[in-house]
Amino acid sequence: MHGMNPETDVIIIGGGPSGAAAAAIIAEAGNKVLVLEREKFPRYHIGESLIPFTYAPLERLGMIPKMRGSCFTKKYSVSFVQPDGRRSVPFYFHTRYDINTVAQTWQVTRAEFDVMLLDNAREKGAAVLEQTAVTRLLKNDSGTVIGVEAQGAGGVKRQFFARLVIDASGKEAFASNREGWRVGDPYLNKVAVWTYYKGSKREQGLDEGATTIAFIPDKGWFWHIPMHDDRVSVGVVAEGKYLTRGGVRDPEAIFQREIRENKWIEEHLSQGRCEGEYWLTSEYSRHSKYGAAPGLLLVGDAFAFLDPVFSSGVMLALKSGVMAGDAVNAGLAANDLSPERFADYASQLRAGVENMRKLVYAFYDPDFSFKDVVTRHPDAAGEITDCLSGDVNKDYSRLWERIREFCPLPGELPYGAPLHA
Ligand SMILES: Cc1cc2nc3c(=O)[nH]c(=O)nc-3n(C[C@H](O)[C@H](O)[C@H](O)COP(=O)(O)OP(=O)(O)OC[C@H]3O[C@@H](n4cnc5c(N)ncnc54)[C@H](O)[C@@H]3O)c2cc1C
Repeated sequence: MHGMNPETDVIIIGGGPSGAAAAAIIAEAGNKVLVLEREKFPRYHIGESLIPFTYAPLERLGMIPKMRGSCFTKKYSVSFVQPDGRRSVPFYFHTRYDINTVAQTWQVTRAEFDVMLLDNAREKGAAVLEQTAVTRLLKNDSGTVIGVEAQGAGGVKRQFFARLVIDASGKEAFASNREGWRVGDPYLNKVAVWTYYKGSKREQGLDEGATTIAFIPDKGWFWHIPMHDDRVSVGVVAEGKYLTRGGVRDPEAIFQREIRENKWIEEHLSQGRCEGEYWLTSEYSRHSKYGAAPGLLLVGDAFAFLDPVFSSGVMLALKSGVMAGDAVNAGLAANDLSPERFADYASQLRAGVENMRKLVYAFYDPDFSFKDVVTRHPDAAGEITDCLSGDVNKDYSRLWERIREFCPLPGELPYGAPLHA
């Protein structure tokens, strides 16, 4: 009965970037939306470096003035550093895009950024319940999701009913885990260990906010992300067997040993002080077999999570939240939220993930380097830049042909389409 008379149009599981973006778009159109978020914001989250094509969803959400007024470090470029410390000429986004818009992005502290996004959704009319963890999807007799069960801070369980549930629960992938749809990406099964430094060496001028990708042996790499308050986010990513060689398992010992594998990282961190806490994740890239089902739609990392080497996660989360919001608004207007309505959304998102995934696979191949591809095909530089900047929904077939001259690329995974009733 509840399912036939729900108290809200849409329930969103999770108030991270994808959930907050979808909530803002749906609420702005005058529809009722309730976000259930397990944590109390601000809360810590990794994923701090944005890429140029985050601009369009941020603009659509009305966030650009807020970003410009924020303390976040401006990011104009990315550069790559060899293990011996040689640094490539930074790649400046303004060589390809407008410096006043797309070509300048940000390094964000997620605790603050995610509050800004969630507050933005509230301002547009979304209701948000924090410290409320969704524990179960509720379904009717025909298997359609009609709501969720959730547990509040005091441990009390409540049921909430809606015409549609959006899973924006991030890498934990609430729905795809419970429905058995979660599929790994075995070749991208890496381990990351990271921490924060204060007072370490920084580049000057336009390069102060540059992301640096610094290589270590075995196709491993460091990220070095300068943030405000003189802090730097720095992490190392590689195969687990490489990082734990010789039986080293303690995250701090792993991290400190790898610093010595890259001269630039060693030099930059030697002047600073580690803030102390070390983080580790080994749950890397994975996908949901289905992107929608009766009464259910997946966005952001809950749809697919890709290795973060090219910092595509927040862009894909915001973009998918906006696209899903538009598709949901159209469905509510047509009084039809059947899974088929989300086929275009899912195929577009999947195509974007697949393009980025090809580049990530190439990055880890021992026979690939961007330099070699561009040396042989100078005109490939533009397309590589576009994909790395997050312009992921373009036809890159010519670029893939050129990269295949150096290394194999993965076929497209047949995932993400809606599961029909
Ligand atoms: C090591 C590492 C480095 C990364 N670096 C970058 C980077 O530099 N740039 C970048 O763009 N991306 C990066 N990412 C990826 C980025 O973190 C994610 O892509 C992004 O946060 C996805 O946003 P989301 O909204 O889908 O999920 P999240 O940001 O994870 O938000 C999900 C929210 O759902 C809530 N939630 C979960 N389960 C429940 C539940 N049962 N009930 C209620 N609420 C729930 C969580 O508390 C959370 O707030 C990195 C990821 C990793 C692992």
